[in-house]
Amino acid sequence: MRELAVHYCPKCGFYAFYQLSRNAVCPRCDEKMMSLDMRYQDFMDLDCAQRDELLARKLIEHSPLVARLVKPHRENNNREIIANLVTVIEGMSQEIKALEADNKKQKETVAWMHDMIWDMVKKQRRESSV
Ligand SMILES: [Zn+2]
Repeated sequence: MRELAVHYCPKCGFYAFYQLSRNAVCPRCDEKMMSLDMRYQDFMDLDCAQRDELLARKLIEHSPLVARLVKPHRENNNREIIANLVTVIEGMSQEIKALEADNKKQKETVAWMHDMIWDMVKKQRRESSV
């Protein structure tokens, strides 16, 4: 029997296990799911927070905004992209504050995404100024 593979929806982050990739379609958005480059057992060994972090990372990597950001910086709309990201980050900071009294794990996930995007912006700015 074939081993189950972890698949996730690039749109909403829903995940499930399938033996065949062609069967992997998100039940929520009807979107074709992508396979996670990870063994089923390794994924099962992660706790909830670690799974969330992993999937959040994947969703960020596949977001159109980030895809544009990581493209070569010769793009003339570079400044605009950074401006957009800064807006996203500001929104996240607001959300972190709002979650202050709320669920701790959720807060950590948002904080973590905030840091990752912020790092990318800083890196991008350094490259642009060369
Ligand atoms: Zn979905």
